[in-house]
Amino acid sequence: MERLQKVIAHAGFASRRKAEQLIIDGQVKVNGKVVKELGLKVSPTDRVEVNGIPVEKEEPIYFLFYKPRGVISSVMDDKGRKVVTDFLPELKQRVYPVGRLDYDTSGLILLTNDGEFANILMHPKNEIQKVYVAKIKGIPSREKMRSLERGVQLEDGKTAPARVKVISIDKKKQTAIVELAIHEGRNRQVRRMFEAIGHPVMKLKRESYGFLTLKGLSVGDMRELTPHEVKQLR
Ligand code: URA
Repeated sequence: MERLQKVIAHAGFASRRKAEQLIIDGQVKVNGKVVKELGLKVSPTDRVEVNGIPVEKEEPIYFLFYKPRGVISSVMDDKGRKVVTDFLPELKQRVYPVGRLDYDTSGLILLTNDGEFANILMHPKNEIQKVYVAKIKGIPSREKMRSLERGVQLEDGKTAPARVKVISIDKKKQTAIVELAIHEGRNRQVRRMFEAIGHPVMKLKRESYGFLTLKGLSVGDMRELTPHEVKQLR
């Protein structure tokens, strides 16, 4: 859902200010009815017209990106560091990342201009499972793994039950590779969970997001989602 004046402005009809004036002047119709209210929110299925001319909605577009480490999950960085949108092809649309991965985390992140889609994916009630692979300091005991599974106490509350699997251990270097599947998406959650059990993360990668994986992609690759994938996620 987006504010009416924003939809008109985004479609290139007028600036936001001018779009507001068009609404106030009664030149805008939503689903055939004149709307003079500025705050009205419209959904992609609503028919918006300005002086009888339909407002074309921006073509929605969806990408799956294999983010490298050292890239910001944002559209801009004031320190001039690389951002995820630097990897997009030339586009008419303005595309944003869905949620975020830390600067030092690599792996799967989605980008889209479809705000409604992004909101659906990020809503906690949808419980989309994300699988992470972490290289951690030290070799965790069975109990510590169990506590991750049950949920650990963080400063913003206890985490929901998770699935945990030790992939390998390096006794010499005293490190382990652990897979962790969670459906929450709190800030730096995986790093904080491992820190809470005394095994800080040295390296982190997101392997999957729901049914989407990095299969066939190399680090830095971007591909469009298929219409079928978009439908399945909605
Ligand atoms: N959890 C983290 O700690 N970092 C990420 O980038 C994603 C999940």
